[in-house]
This record gives sequence, C-alpha cells and structure tokens, in this order.
Amino acid sequence: MSTSLMYHTHGIKGFQHKSYRYEADKVIQRIERKEFFCEECGSYNITRQSPHILLIQGIPTLKKKLFFEIEGHLIYYKDCKGRKTESLTFLPNPKSRITTSLERSIVELRPHVSIKAIAEFFDLNWRLVRDC
Ligand SMILES: [Zn+2]
Repeated sequence: MSTSLMYHTHGIKGFQHKSYRYEADKVIQRIERKEFFCEECGSYNITRQSPHILLIQGIPTLKKKLFFEIEGHLIYYKDCKGRKTESLTFLPNPKSRITTSLERSIVELRPHVSIKAIAEFFDLNWRLVRDC
C-alpha cells in the first residue's frame, strides 16, 4: 500500500512503507515514521527509547486481514524535558490496536449487523466491537 493509499484509506500520515509480510490469513505492512519531533514546540531535539513493536489492525482486504507493524518508542523531548509514548494519530485512542478507519467501519455496521457477526468478520474480540 503506497503512502498515499495509507493516508486515504486509513488516515495514516507521516509514515512510509518499508515492507510486506504475508502470513496465512493476513498481510502485515511494516511502516516507519518519517521523522520524529516534538508536537508541542516542533523541536527535533529528541531521543528515542524503549523500542517496541505494535501491530495495528486496519480494514481488511477482500480475503486477508491487514495489519500495520510499527516500531513504537518512548520519546524524550530534550528541549521540553518531557518523556512520553509517541502518539499515533490514526488510532481512536492511544491504547487502541485498530485504526480509526476500522473503528468507523464497525460503528457503521453496528445498526445493521450483530456484534458477534462483526467480531467474526473482522476477527476481533466481541467486547472490542461492543465498545466501539
Ligand atoms: Zn517540545
């Protein structure tokens, strides 16, 4: 998925495509943030710490689930003297592991389809679907 397509289908901006990995029923797209800076003051004077892998589920393609694989970090903002987990603006909340676009699709389906059916279709926990 091109950078442009990621933006228009999932609202992901500021990231670039790195690679695809295919597993039985899923496509995993590795993406990387293009640049790191403080969202409050705009400074690039930061240090990335504690790298960890995040798998974010997006809207599936016809037959395969789609995941975005991202290396997340704890960011130390040297000029602001602050430390926080980097923000991913395409998530409905910081702890979510589905894109806002997938959440929106679930919300649009909810009046027409049972929570169980939606959960099975997207292969999600029904509680997550219920709470969308
Ligand atoms: Zn700052």
